[in-house]
Amino acid sequence: MRSVKQLVDSFLLTELLKGLRVTLKNMFRKKVTVQYPDEKTPQSPRFRGLHALRTYPNGEERCIACKLCEAVCPAAAITIEAGPRESDGTRRTTKYEIDLFKCIYCGFCEESCPVDSIVETRVFDYHFENRGENIMTKAMLLEVGRRYEPEIASDREADAKYR
Ligand code: SF4
Ligand code: SF4
Repeated sequence: MRSVKQLVDSFLLTELLKGLRVTLKNMFRKKVTVQYPDEKTPQSPRFRGLHALRTYPNGEERCIACKLCEAVCPAAAITIEAGPRESDGTRRTTKYEIDLFKCIYCGFCEESCPVDSIVETRVFDYHFENRGENIMTKAMLLEVGRRYEPEIASDREADAKYR
C-alpha cells in the first residue's frame, strides 16, 4: 500500500521537480562532448593503438628478429619468420605480421622488445573494408613507423621519465 508521503510526493510532482533540478544544474556546466573527428580528446603518451615497426635515423630497421614479441603475445597475434639478410648476413625478419583481429592491445610486444622496434602508436581511428586487411604486414608496419616516428620518439621519451 502506498504511504502518505508517496501520495503527497506524487500530488506535488516532487520527483519531476527533482529531475528538472538535475537538468537545470547540468545545463550551464562546461560541455564534455567533443566534435569528433574535428576535435579529439587528450591521449596519454602510453596510448596503445595501431602497431608500427620503427627504423633508425639512417633508415635501418631496428628489429633483430629475436622473436620475443611473438613469444610473449598472449593472443598469438604475431607471426614472424626470420633468416640471415643477403647483403650483410645479419638476422632479420623475412615475414612479420600482426593479426589485428586477434590483438588485444595489451602492449606486451612493445614491452618485450629489446630494441624499441615494435611499438603501439596513438592511431586508433582505422578501419577495414576488405577481407584480409586485418593482417598488418611488415611493409605496412614499417610505413606506419616512418610516418609517425617523430610522435613515437617523443612519446617514448616522455614515457621513460616515469620508469
Ligand atoms: S598488443 Fe598484445 S595482443 Fe597485440 S600484438 Fe602486442 S602482445 Fe599481442
Ligand atoms: S620487434 Fe623487437 S621483440 Fe619483436 S622480433 Fe623484432 S626485435 Fe625482437
